[in-house]
Amino acid sequence: MSEDKKVHDVVVIGSGPSGMCAALYTARAGLDTKVVVGPQLGGQVAITWEIDNYLGFADELTGPELVERMHKHVEKFGAQLVYDEVTSVDFASSPHTVKMYGGELKARVVIVSAGATARVLGVPGEKELTGRGVSYCATCDGAFFKGQEVVVVGGGDSAIEEALFLTRFASRVRVLHRRDELRAGQQLKERAMANDKIDFVWNTVVESISGNGKVNSVTTRRTDTEEIGTLETDGVFIFIGHYPNSSIFKGVLDMDEHGYVIIDDHMRTNVGGVYACGEIADPNWRQIATSVGQGCMAAMAAEEYLGVIEHSTVGEAAPDAGEGQVVGIEAARS
Ligand code: NAP
Repeated sequence: MSEDKKVHDVVVIGSGPSGMCAALYTARAGLDTKVVVGPQLGGQVAITWEIDNYLGFADELTGPELVERMHKHVEKFGAQLVYDEVTSVDFASSPHTVKMYGGELKARVVIVSAGATARVLGVPGEKELTGRGVSYCATCDGAFFKGQEVVVVGGGDSAIEEALFLTRFASRVRVLHRRDELRAGQQLKERAMANDKIDFVWNTVVESISGNGKVNSVTTRRTDTEEIGTLETDGVFIFIGHYPNSSIFKGVLDMDEHGYVIIDDHMRTNVGGVYACGEIADPNWRQIATSVGQGCMAAMAAEEYLGVIEHSTVGEAAPDAGEGQVVGIEAARS
């Protein structure tokens, strides 16, 4: 039977920690599992340099290393990776259909784990100079800034973690934050404060980025005094948060006002047989560990839905929704 006609047990959309963990569990339970990889195998982990808060990996673990381990692990249990991107979905009928650039997949269960994408500042010069000094990935681009000065925008864990990473290459890293207090956790804060190469520029935002084919300065504005200034720099690394990759599910899956897919405590969406996990459904925790946990829960709930495991294994019974049938979150919770 052609791939387009075959009905798979499970299609996982996305290959970050949540999707890969879901695929590991469903494949290991003997379910025919396909993973649509998306734009980047491993998702955001692939562009993370150092991971030191994932249990069991006390020694240095890089993002690409973890991606390779996840990849090997899911394939060992028979999940098949499809190197394509999802363009649209049809969840109105059963089986569900997932359309990609290169064809479509049909499945009894779909696990949506399409992750999140870095936010842009939206200031003049940013778009034009992306890849020419403006970057959203220190792991990818840090090495281009050996001995040079860079600016990091943001005050969260990502900004501080990546600022620390950039000190491996850059001679000076200035962190521009719009407030006078970091959002980042204490341990990262302390490491950054103790690093001689890192300076903080408080109460400051970027108004524009300038350069002639390559970044040479940023125009700044103080948020307390409105004073405008200029900082000369070779690079601008922007880490100001993320948004969920949920646009293709608009009108199909229920979402909150920020576009995060709404799930219940069994990772169920409003559509029977469709689960969501990881950063597409998580505006709060966004850790590798929490994504992995959510992927595991989505897989177990899906296994229950497909009758592979008894519902007593995961507690509350699944809602009485047929495949493809739309159920309300409230109904799912009741
Ligand atoms: P985040 O926590 O949302 O932080 C975004 C930062 O960017 C904040 O400091 C915010 O300022 C600033 N910001 C937002 N919009 C801005 C704008 N337009 N102009 C200037 N600054 C702006 O995002 P994140 O750092 O990517 O972290 C996301 C999640 O992943 C968090 O839960 C974090 O704990 C987690 N994470 C964890 C680790 C780790 O544990 N090692 C590493 C990376 C990420 P305000 O502070 O003023 O809001």
